[in-house]
Amino acid sequence: MGLFPMGGEHFRLIASNPLSKASKGAEPSLDELQRIYDQRSHIPARFHDLAWSSWFRINSRMVSRLKVGRLLLGGDAAHIHSPAGAQGMNTGIQDMINVSWKLAMVMNGQAPPSILDTYEADRLSVMRGVLFRTDTLTNVIGTENPIVRTLINHLGPFIGGAELVQENATAGMSQVVLNYRNSSLSENHTHGGAIRAGDRVPDMPVRLRSDGNWKETTLLSALDASHLTLVAAVPDGTTLPSSLKACVPESRFVEIAADAKDAARFETTFGKAGAAVLVRPDGYAGLTSPISSAADHLAAYRRKWFSASAADARS
Ligand SMILES: Cc1cc2nc3c(=O)[nH]c(=O)nc-3n(C[C@H](O)[C@H](O)[C@H](O)COP(=O)(O)OP(=O)(O)OC[C@H]3O[C@@H](n4cnc5c(N)ncnc54)[C@H](O)[C@@H]3O)c2cc1C
Repeated sequence: MGLFPMGGEHFRLIASNPLSKASKGAEPSLDELQRIYDQRSHIPARFHDLAWSSWFRINSRMVSRLKVGRLLLGGDAAHIHSPAGAQGMNTGIQDMINVSWKLAMVMNGQAPPSILDTYEADRLSVMRGVLFRTDTLTNVIGTENPIVRTLINHLGPFIGGAELVQENATAGMSQVVLNYRNSSLSENHTHGGAIRAGDRVPDMPVRLRSDGNWKETTLLSALDASHLTLVAAVPDGTTLPSSLKACVPESRFVEIAADAKDAARFETTFGKAGAAVLVRPDGYAGLTSPISSAADHLAAYRRKWFSASAADARS
């Protein structure tokens, strides 16, 4: 049994249930949940005002293809697993975020249909990872082995509460650290920074050039999920090559510099000499390059994936 605080006086209770069999059409009652709780917890508590309850069966399986012809699969239709780790809905939402901008661009004549194949290339390995981790977690927390059980009950809260574990678990479970580095859509040209094609663009305070002036903002708020954005991250005093600015329409070009609040992170991410990053509508880096060679790389990349760039420029 697991009890999860949901804010206010609300809790979510999830438990395996040997007390009764799931009956068709009838949800578990408050009394039933109370009996399960009393059986398994030494902390006295009384539940009231049941908001929702349901039986569920744990499945663990996924499809091997996400795109067959004109059929695209995502969400629970593509992968289903234990709720341990709370990953199912989040994974499904990320599936749709990954595919929907590609679909929109194909439908608007801004990208070739072959870009839809990268949906499967991006997401299948993510789904495999989610299944593996949720299976492992389910086996660990559901173990009947008394020694492992005792260890989990007594050491689990300390290990789980450690700052390092919390930070890693938060980054992993919120799915912000997953990347598409191996995707064919990711084109990496080595520059001095840590960000690579396929990485999610990290948020950080930056200065944004706007009408010739610099204003403070954050990187993610300078992006627009409705189109590709070319980000030129430049060290102070650098003049950008005019060929780079001419690569994309002005509204899709963003020039940023380090903000004093987190200048070290800016340099780690984009390197001492800066970098150019073509950011996909879903917030992942499609292409990364040194500033000096970015215009050429970008032109070839756009020819390959966004061949109808003229239509893109018009919209
Ligand atoms: C106990 C439990 C706890 C969970 N907790 C979390 C959590 O904390 N975090 C998290 O991220 N995920 C969680 N999940 C997983 C999450 O609920 C699912 O991953 C998510 O709801 C899947 O969404 P979906 O839209 O892909 O599919 P569904 O929610 O299954 O939606 C599919 C819809 O299609 C409808 N439908 C089916 N067939 C047809 C048809 N022929 N015609 C028309 N409509 C049809 C269905 O009725 C349904 O409404 C949990 C799951 C369970 C069981």
